Amino acid sequence: MDGANIHPEIADLYPELIQIRRELHQHPELMFDLPRTSAFVASYLQALNIEVHTGVGKSGVVGVIRGEGPCILLRADMDALPITELIESDYKSTTPGKTHACGHDAHMAMLLVAAKVISRHRDRLKGSIKFMFQPAEEGGHGARFMRDDENYPVLDAEPRVDEVYGIHMGNQVNLGDFNLSEKFMSTYSDFFDIEVKGKGGHGSSPHLCNDPIISAAELIVALQTIISRNVNTKFKSVLSVTTIHGGETYNAISDSCKLTGTIRSYETEVRDLLIKRINEICNGLSVANNISIVFTLHPLYGPIVNDPTCIQKTEAVFRKICPNANREMDSPMIGEDFAYLTDVRPGCFYMLGCSTTEKTAPLHSPNFTFDERSMMIGASFWVQLVQDELFKN
Ligand SMILES: [Zn+2]
Ligand SMILES: [Zn+2]
Repeated sequence: MDGANIHPEIADLYPELIQIRRELHQHPELMFDLPRTSAFVASYLQALNIEVHTGVGKSGVVGVIRGEGPCILLRADMDALPITELIESDYKSTTPGKTHACGHDAHMAMLLVAAKVISRHRDRLKGSIKFMFQPAEEGGHGARFMRDDENYPVLDAEPRVDEVYGIHMGNQVNLGDFNLSEKFMSTYSDFFDIEVKGKGGHGSSPHLCNDPIISAAELIVALQTIISRNVNTKFKSVLSVTTIHGGETYNAISDSCKLTGTIRSYETEVRDLLIKRINEICNGLSVANNISIVFTLHPLYGPIVNDPTCIQKTEAVFRKICPNANREMDSPMIGEDFAYLTDVRPGCFYMLGCSTTEKTAPLHSPNFTFDERSMMIGASFWVQLVQDELFKN
């Protein structure tokens, strides 16, 4: 943070930035069900005298400032996670089972305060800005719903969007630094179910049963060989079995055992290979153990591919705010539905460093937190980006 050039109007608004983030943090809402959050966002934008569209992609909000020239879209997401927050604070989530553990409260606060500053200078614009606040990033494809909305398709509705930008809090990155890869900023992210169905019975008579727990155990080990023995070592990928459920008591062999998990990859051919090998292992083990194994894939998001020109612009803007910034280039292994926008428009997505301690819990942890000063950097970035791209000299 040393030597950071926080935009002076953002610095003045720092108390408001914190207040907004904490207000939103206390009242987390999930997926598309965001009555309080979207109303808060819409009324804040309306108070700035900004054109506002609500109910876009079910519950998204879009603010528009119009000008002659190109249009850039700045995106924040609004939904929280079905997790109970474990951190004590005077702005702790008021709803057990829901918390902003992915920093979307900060994303909204940064974009709202940036909208306030930008709206003060709208007579200097030589182009348009869309402020996109989307629902259901956490698995609900909210960006796709807003992109494909019949009444107000966020990219195609006038003014038509030319470029898209998004920020995500990155608390594995130090405050003042940023993570921006050369290409991929998120992965193909797929979930899967595997159901092993055998023949249950008394625990003392395994020879009369076909034990699905044994097959599930073999399956978990066999699946781990896909990445270690099939995927070319130059590619990054993940296969994690994340839940296993089967059986009810000590002395009964269960009829079935269910596994769930996720696979992550960047390249289509790697994703195809992972899926093919999971299928083959399931089918092969099914034959070997004479047991039913059913694999079901649930595709989630494709990867964000950043545009080279937009990467350059993003880096240049970020370095104006944080001249001493370290740029991490590792592609994050996250899933992100911002890919629905970069699939059809050039754009850039990066992770904003927001950590000042070594023991920071990762995104989606009940202990997730970040240094709130990072929001001044993110909000300054938005203002500087608009200034560089769309302000008349
Ligand atoms: Zn998330
Ligand atoms: Zn997120």
